[in-house]
Amino acid sequence: KVGIAQIDPELFEAISLENRRQEDHIELIASENYASPAVMEAQGSQLTNKYAEGYPGKRYYGGCENVDVVENLAIERLKKLFNAEAANVQPNSGSQANQAVFFALLQPGDTIMGLSLAEGGHLTHGMPLNMSGKWFNVVSYGLNEQEAIDYDQVEALAREHKPKLIIAGASAYSLRIDFERFAKIAKEVGAYFMVDMAHYAGLIAAGVYPSPVPFADVCTSTTHKSLRGPRGGIILMKEELAKKINSAIFPGIQGGPLMHVIAGKAVAFHEALQPEFKAYQQQVVANAKALAEALIERGLRIVSGHTESHVMLVDLRAKGITGKAAEAALGEAHITVNKNAIPNDPEKPFVTSGIRLGSPAMTTRGFKEEQARLVGHLIADVLENPEDEATLEAVRQKVKVLTSEFPVYR
Ligand code: PLP
Repeated sequence: KVGIAQIDPELFEAISLENRRQEDHIELIASENYASPAVMEAQGSQLTNKYAEGYPGKRYYGGCENVDVVENLAIERLKKLFNAEAANVQPNSGSQANQAVFFALLQPGDTIMGLSLAEGGHLTHGMPLNMSGKWFNVVSYGLNEQEAIDYDQVEALAREHKPKLIIAGASAYSLRIDFERFAKIAKEVGAYFMVDMAHYAGLIAAGVYPSPVPFADVCTSTTHKSLRGPRGGIILMKEELAKKINSAIFPGIQGGPLMHVIAGKAVAFHEALQPEFKAYQQQVVANAKALAEALIERGLRIVSGHTESHVMLVDLRAKGITGKAAEAALGEAHITVNKNAIPNDPEKPFVTSGIRLGSPAMTTRGFKEEQARLVGHLIADVLENPEDEATLEAVRQKVKVLTSEFPVYR
């Protein structure tokens, strides 16, 4: 058997270095995780070779008897995991899941509402350069003075603008979202209610974050964040919308589904249905809390005051460092984060005054509160002395001890 190392040494080198980076650095990007070897095995299987346009039992290609089993397993497990009426496992990404819902339920020019990008929303919720912002009339809502979602504003804007669709869900919002309140508002104004639960999906599956499924017409998600599956998207929907939304995915916006990825999703959903997954997600939340507390102890401010999930935004202004500089200095110290705008950020979007931190990946490698607190102190050490080589080296050494004690795949 000839592998990548023999066929393509240049590429092999990059993959090997990335494998090392994932082992040796502390991963705090809130949207990332480490998929299990079983999920990766499914993605590396022969299913990568198969065309299967259509849906199980109704394909446009022959030879689909085995991939039909795979897709049905993924659908049934997903429905069970979230107690959903209907599910589509074909979206190639979270963005395409959202796009399909728009394609199914909206016409160009319709009004949609979503959380503004600057206050924690996602690109696909109406950012001007995204298709959602170009094709629809976007009314964004934001946060109140306590940096919680301003439900009164959502209600007032919905009554004024009568949107066709209201979107809840976020990429950088640490608190619980009141999905029931959103649903009431949507119902009152006759809007569809969609929840993009990409960030919280794993927590929701384990019951450690409120489920939007009973309240929303449609829920979309990625599968690779807290849910810890392969990169991809999913849609959960009320039965009456299933036909419309399925046909918006195929033939609407996608061709042949990625059957190897759907197999990876099926494995991930199976894993998420096990009791260990609940314990994992409880630890994800406990670790985020411990990390936030350590940062607060060291004089940093957490946007919204605290975290009730896996994610938090850190306001760096007390340390006089930008998000861009913090991301770079922490990277030097082998701690991976992303810069992120905070509400009313005085800096430009490429610079920012904040960083976003998440606990799913470090929890997968086995960190508990003790290690999460230590990570908080290491971050503060770097932020207080971002240009001091001795500090960076001392933190790197401590990261090395931690990551060797908690290997990911080795
Ligand atoms: N929705 C939310 C809330 C997200 O945070 C993300 C990813 O960051 C997406 C959708 C998009 O997912 P993808 O990158 O798979 O298109």
